[in-house]
Amino acid sequence: MSVQPIFNRLALIGTGLIGSSIARAARAQGAARSIVATARSAATRRRVAELGLADQVVETNAAAAEGADLVIVCVPVGACGAVAREIGPHLQPGTIVSDVGSVKGSVLRAMSPHLPAGVHFVPAHPVAGTEHSGPDAGFAELFVGRWCILTPPANVDQAAVERLAAFWRLIGANVEIMSAEHHDLVLGITSHLPHLIAYTIVGTADELGQVTRSEVLQFSAGGFRDFTRIAASDPTMWRDVFLHNKEAVLEMLGRFNEDLSMLTRAIRRGDGDTLFEQFTRTRAIRRGIVDIGQDSPAPDFGRPHPDLPHEPLPRPYAVDDK
Ligand code: NAP
Repeated sequence: MSVQPIFNRLALIGTGLIGSSIARAARAQGAARSIVATARSAATRRRVAELGLADQVVETNAAAAEGADLVIVCVPVGACGAVAREIGPHLQPGTIVSDVGSVKGSVLRAMSPHLPAGVHFVPAHPVAGTEHSGPDAGFAELFVGRWCILTPPANVDQAAVERLAAFWRLIGANVEIMSAEHHDLVLGITSHLPHLIAYTIVGTADELGQVTRSEVLQFSAGGFRDFTRIAASDPTMWRDVFLHNKEAVLEMLGRFNEDLSMLTRAIRRGDGDTLFEQFTRTRAIRRGIVDIGQDSPAPDFGRPHPDLPHEPLPRPYAVDDK
C-alpha cells in the first residue's frame, strides 16, 4: 500500500545517529518526496552521500533549508541557536522547523528569535537512541514503538503540530504533547540523572587501582556492565544536555542525594526493612516498564549479546521471575 508523502522536501541539518535514522525511516515509509541532508564536517557529508541516505547532500545549513517544507535540526542542543540563526533568512513561509534535542526549554529560547514570522516552530524530542553516534549508527527502526515528545509553544499553528505528529507516527513513534518545561523535568529524572549516575559510577570504578580495575571489567555482569553502556554515550551531546537542563537536573540531583543518604543510613544502621521496602517498590516500577512495552524482560536492555545464549533465561535470573 503506497502512502501519500506528508512533506515535499525534508531537510535534515545534522546527520548523526538521530538525523540518519530519520532519513532512513522517512525514506522507508515514503514520508517525504525528497530528502536533503547536511552535516558540519565534510567527512560526515561524504559518508552520508556514500550511504545514500538522502537525495541530495549539501554543504551549508542555509542550502539545506532552501525550499524545504520540513526542517529538522539534529545537532547537539548547544548548537541549535546558531543553526537557527543561519537558516532563518532562507526559510519559506509555511515551513515547519523542528529539532530532536534532548532538552527543550533552552532550544526553544535559543531558536525562536531567529525564525521569521510565518514559519511554524514545533520542537520535538524522540525518546529513542543508542550509545553510538554518526551516520553509520542510525537505523530505520529506531523510533518504532518509542515516544516522540512535541513541545509546541502556545501560539503555534495546530495544523503544523498535527502534520509533524503525523510524520513521527508514520516513522513508527507514538506522539505525546507537553510543555517544554514539563518535558525537561520529566526527562531530568528519566534520562538525564541516570546518565549522570552512570558517568559517575563508571568514572569512580576507573579511578580504583589497576588490579581492581581489571576485576571490575571481569565481573562487570554484576550490574556495572549496564552502566558502562549508558556511560559510553556521546560526550558532546551529554555535556550540552547538562549545561542546558541545569535547573531540572539540579532539582532531581538534590532529591536523589537525599534518597541516597536515606539508604546509606539504612545500611549503616542495619535497617533491613527500609532496604527491602525500597527494593520492592523499585522492582514494581521495572515490571511496569516491561508491561507497557518500553523494554523487554530480557537483560541487556532488550539487546542481548549476540554471542550469548539468552532464551530461555536460567532461573532465578529471569527479570520477570515472580
Ligand atoms: P551525533 O550522532 O553525534 O550527530 C550529531 C550531528 O550534528 C552530526 O552530523 C554533526 O556533524 C553535527 N554537529 C555536531 N556539532 C555541531 C555543531 N556545533 N554545529 C553544527 N552541527 C554540529 O548525535 P545524535 O545522537 O544524532 O544527537 C543529535 C541530537 O539528538 C542531540 O541534540 C541529542 O540531544 C538528540 N538526541 C540524541 C539521542 C541519542 O540517544 N543519541 C536521543 C534523542 C535525542 P559532524 O558529524 O560533521 O560533526
